[in-house]
Amino acid sequence: MTTHTRLTNREVAAILAGVAARLQILDANRFRIIAFQNAAESIRTLAQDINAIDAAGELTSIQGVGKGIGDAIHTLLVNGSDPEFDALFAQVPQGVVDMMQVPDMGPKKAKRLWEELGIDSVAALRAAAEAGKLRDLKGFGAKSEEKILKGIELLAKRTERGDGERMPIGVVRPLALHMIAELQAKLPAGAIERIEIAGSLRRWKETIGDVDILCLSAQPALVMETFRTLPEVADILGAGETKSSVVLGNGLQVDLRVVERKHWGAALQYFTGSKEHNVAVRELALKQGWSLNEYGLTATGAGDAPAGEERFFEEEADLYAFLRLEWVPPELRENRGEVAAAQQHTLPALLTLADLQGELHGHTTWSDGVASVAEMAEAARARGYHYWNVSDHSVGLGIVQGVDGEKLRRQRVEIDAYNRRCAEADIDFRLLQGSEVEILADGALGLPDDVLAGLDVVVASIHSAQRQDRETITARCLKAIYNPHVDILGHPTGRLLGERPPTEIDMERILQACRETGTVVEINANPARLDVNDLYARRAVELGCKLAINCDAHSPQDLTLAEYGVGVARRGWLTAADVINTRPVDAMLALLKDAQRNAHDQP
Ligand SMILES: [Zn+2]
Ligand SMILES: [Zn+2]
Repeated sequence: MTTHTRLTNREVAAILAGVAARLQILDANRFRIIAFQNAAESIRTLAQDINAIDAAGELTSIQGVGKGIGDAIHTLLVNGSDPEFDALFAQVPQGVVDMMQVPDMGPKKAKRLWEELGIDSVAALRAAAEAGKLRDLKGFGAKSEEKILKGIELLAKRTERGDGERMPIGVVRPLALHMIAELQAKLPAGAIERIEIAGSLRRWKETIGDVDILCLSAQPALVMETFRTLPEVADILGAGETKSSVVLGNGLQVDLRVVERKHWGAALQYFTGSKEHNVAVRELALKQGWSLNEYGLTATGAGDAPAGEERFFEEEADLYAFLRLEWVPPELRENRGEVAAAQQHTLPALLTLADLQGELHGHTTWSDGVASVAEMAEAARARGYHYWNVSDHSVGLGIVQGVDGEKLRRQRVEIDAYNRRCAEADIDFRLLQGSEVEILADGALGLPDDVLAGLDVVVASIHSAQRQDRETITARCLKAIYNPHVDILGHPTGRLLGERPPTEIDMERILQACRETGTVVEINANPARLDVNDLYARRAVELGCKLAINCDAHSPQDLTLAEYGVGVARRGWLTAADVINTRPVDAMLALLKDAQRNAHDQP
């Protein structure tokens, strides 16, 4: 009989992570710290209920859980607490652990502040920094006080944002599209002539503050009324004749504006943003003697046109053209050089969803996917793909079902049979066999080299011990990159949008190594990940790396997520040539082979 509440996987993981953090602060044995970090990460991502695994006496079958930690978890699950953990939690206050969340505040600094100045919470840390008390400590100065205060501010903002100020695009976009579809379905045919999403959503930003929608309509009052009574609307902030602001049940704000046809081009440009891009365009317009607002251009008198003369644009492209700019794709409008490029007509020909010929990272029921090899292949073909790489998790991951060499041999038979059927039916589609091989905590891979050598495309990823320090996790990843059998680095920074920050990994060094070895950098298109992000994608191309856009699909429906990866790629200025899975299968494989030849021993 248990008298305490049953602990969930997440709760157990949090306790183990708390133990690891305290061991870090106490400067315990490094391997012991890593062991707890590994176990925490494994259990956090574990599919099976840990109580069931414990009941079956199989805790040590979980990756990273040895006899010692297993026994402690068992005690924890049975009694609701573990005496050794309790002692650690009593010894190091939670507030000191929280201090480690402040950017740049490692365990060593937190420990010294706590032991030498008695600071045991983020609030106490702020007070001490504000009072100038940290500079008494050797190695700390006014500069570090300033840095710590800034870090605390950042941390507070991050926490605030976590409360829902910005939402992941993967949540917002389907909702916005659904509302537009509902609006159109409820209105008489032709009531809306044109409707378009503007704002950061049109720019495919990874998180969205609020949604801006513009439309053309001869019946604005009816459109507004219908919009405000959509079932998702929880609250109405504004109800004007041509503008309505509503808040949805999940807290998202959506604004709808009806604009005049002659203002459409300028309005769409204005409400698409970003603010920084618009400032740059406005400055350029001013230099040409025009002031720009959401309606159009008005001559200032400084140019050829007499002051007060107006220009309107039905299309956004006409506005850009008038200013002697190439039309700038919304994804580029962040003032990162796009205005100058538009002036010189050197904007990149961004890749599109239609450029993707196949994908190189996805899962089936051989690991944690929900569909069979054949079902995933059918879904890929239905999207017009010509190839799909079966890359199930290798052994070595916390999830119970990993694929080892023996299973891969059996899986190969299934894949070959499917490909034979395609060939006989003259279908231009090929399944490849790969693996999402685990990069273990020490940088070794979850499958031996001779097994990897037999695969078509190998993706290597990290799913455990993600809180290793910068040096450790970077070295770990470099080891995998320099393995000649590794073709693609999967979701390189490990972040989960709004849920888990990226690892400490040194992406500049990682990208340099990818360039050197020809290892392909993944843009994981799953909107919970979007990893690498737009900035790293752009940097990767600058360095000369190739990228791959993969849904990391675990179900047939997941393949629809590719558009999010394309959004990231476009924001990163990528062309089709930068992305390997825009190539036909043989050309793509040849490129990977070349890269393998270039891979050499790690310096
Ligand atoms: Zn993965
Ligand atoms: Zn995966």
